[in-house]
Order: sequence, then structure tokens, then C-alpha cells
Amino acid sequence: HAKSEGANRYLFFNDSMNKQAVKRLQLENLMRHGLKEDYFSVYYQPKMDIVSGQLVGMEALVRFITPKGGVISPASFIPIAEETGQIIEIGEVVLYKACLAVKNWINQGLFHGRVAVNLSSSQFSLPFLCDLIDDVLQQTELPSYHLELEITEGTVMQSPPKAIEVMKKLRARGIHLAMDDFGTGYSSLAYLKQFPLNTLKIDKAFIDDMNTARGRNMVDTIVTLAHNLSLNVVAEGVEQETQLAILRKLRCDVIQGYYYSKPLSEEDFSKFLQEQKLKHAKLTAVSV
Ligand code: C2E
Ligand code: MG
Ligand code: MG
Ligand code: MG
Repeated sequence: HAKSEGANRYLFFNDSMNKQAVKRLQLENLMRHGLKEDYFSVYYQPKMDIVSGQLVGMEALVRFITPKGGVISPASFIPIAEETGQIIEIGEVVLYKACLAVKNWINQGLFHGRVAVNLSSSQFSLPFLCDLIDDVLQQTELPSYHLELEITEGTVMQSPPKAIEVMKKLRARGIHLAMDDFGTGYSSLAYLKQFPLNTLKIDKAFIDDMNTARGRNMVDTIVTLAHNLSLNVVAEGVEQETQLAILRKLRCDVIQGYYYSKPLSEEDFSKFLQEQKLKHAKLTAVSV
């Protein structure tokens, strides 16, 4: 009897959990390998000023490039990397690569804005986070005011008083702070006004919802809330012209989304910057 129970248990494990566990283990191994072999790459998505249509910054988004050239999106490995702790090392690689790329673009006269890097919860709670960031900025020679960090409501709400302390230390360095995916987490309004933020990013889910009056009102409310707190507002996941038009009417400040561009490899983003510069030169030439 015990034997058959054991067999059942084994079968149960085999059917449902095993596949997941194997996939997880495979990804974990792949990430370990990837860290050693430098398979993590950073893509960049432009952020455009909604009024002038000019580039104001970009978000750095990690990608895993397989040896065969395939691209694995972070949605599939970041959650596991968070659990295994590998996110710490991956995050450091992303920060370093992003700062270095931006330093080069600045040197080439192609860019003078801010690069936004996502910080995971476990990175944010590292006791040596500020030292780590100082080191990367020093190594890459990127002035701190070219850096912005994106954190989520979940990250700062784990311990708001501690989060405020860390945020103040980062702000003291001239680093900008953005609340990412706003509206999807559980941040309280009481804390929102205490967090030393610069920017609030409206989650794509709200932008997708703007085809209804209720949805538009919601975005209107978030933009007003942000402006009342003197925060800059970024809409993420803008895909359509109609969304852009509504966001402009609602006085949103910056947009990010496929409407302008998908996240681009470093090489493609360089080309994008060069095109922007040419376009700009032409505009100036015409207006003279
Ligand atoms: P996020 O920080 O909210 O980044 C925005 C995501 O929306 C990106 O997905 C971007 O490609 C996608 N997106 C932007 N515009 C559009 C659009 O118009 N349509 C659609 N369908 N999608 C759009 P991605 O690159 O797959 O990243 C997913 C999430 O993974 C990020 O969400 C972030 O939470 C996390 N992530 C990415 N890179 C890093 C990283 O370096 N460190 C950490 N800790 N997390 C990261
Ligand atoms: Mg982000
Ligand atoms: Mg976001
Ligand atoms: Mg999002």
C-alpha cells in the first residue's frame, strides 16, 4: 500500500510540478552560464517629450541573447532570477552596460538626457546599493544626473520609512527616481507624497484602457495626482496615435511605447540617435 502511495506521489510530481521544476532549473543554469559568458544584453527604448516630440531619455531593458542569437524576454527570467538571487548580479551587469553605453553616446554628442534603469526589490534593499551605484558611475565616468532608477510600488511599500531613507540618499547624488507600473501595486497616497520621487510612470494597462470614458478618466486622475505632487508623468506602452492624442490633451509629459519605437539593441539605438540628430539639424536649418 505504502509503495503504491509512493508511486502515486511520484506520478503526481512527475505530471505537474516536475515540468515546471525542470524548466526553472534549466533557466537557472542558463542564467548562471549567461552571466559567465556575457549573454545578458541591454536594449533601450526611447522616451519622448509629448509636446516637442523630442527624445528626453530611454529605458534600459535587459535581454538574454542565446548562443544561437535568440532573444529571451525578461518576463520569463526576471521572476526566477529574483527567487534565486541572480537578479543582483544581472542587475549590476545591466547598470554597468547602460551607464557605459550612455557615456559613449554623450561623448559622441548624440545624447544629453537620462537613462532609466530598473531596480528589483532585492537590489533596492541591498545595504551596499549606494556604494555599488557609486562604483559603477565612477568606473563608467557617467555623471550621476544622467541616471534615473525605476522602482515599483511593491518595492517601496515593503518598508516605506526605510525606502524613503534609501531614496533620499540616491536623490542626494542627483539621481532621479521614477515609480514604475504606477497603479498596479498597493502604494498608499499618504506615502506617495512622502517618497522623494521625480517621475510617475502610468502602467500600460491604464493606457490600454483609454478606449472607454472610464479608462480615460482614470488616466486623467493619475496625471492630475502626479502633477499635484509636482511629479513628471510618463505613459508606458503607447502604441496608437489616438492614445497619443488623448494623452496630449490630458497633459501627460512623456510617452514611451511602440508608437515611437520598440526597445532597440545598443547598435540600433545608436542609429536611432543619429537619425534624431539629423532630423533635428534639418528642422533647425528650415527654421533659420
Ligand atoms: P517595465 O519596467 O514596466 O518595462 C516596460 C515594458 O513594456 C518592457 O517590456 C517594454 O518592452 C514594454 N513595452 C514598452 N512599450 C510597449 C508597447 O507599446 N507595447 C507593448 N506591448 N509593450 C511595450 P520588457 O522589456 O519585456 O520588460 C518587462 C519587465 O521586465 C519590465 O517592465 C521590468 O519590470 C522587467 N525588467 C526589464 N529589464 C529589467 C532589468 O534590467 N532589471 C529588472 N529588475 N527588471 C527588468
Ligand atoms: Mg521600467
Ligand atoms: Mg513599467
Ligand atoms: Mg509595466
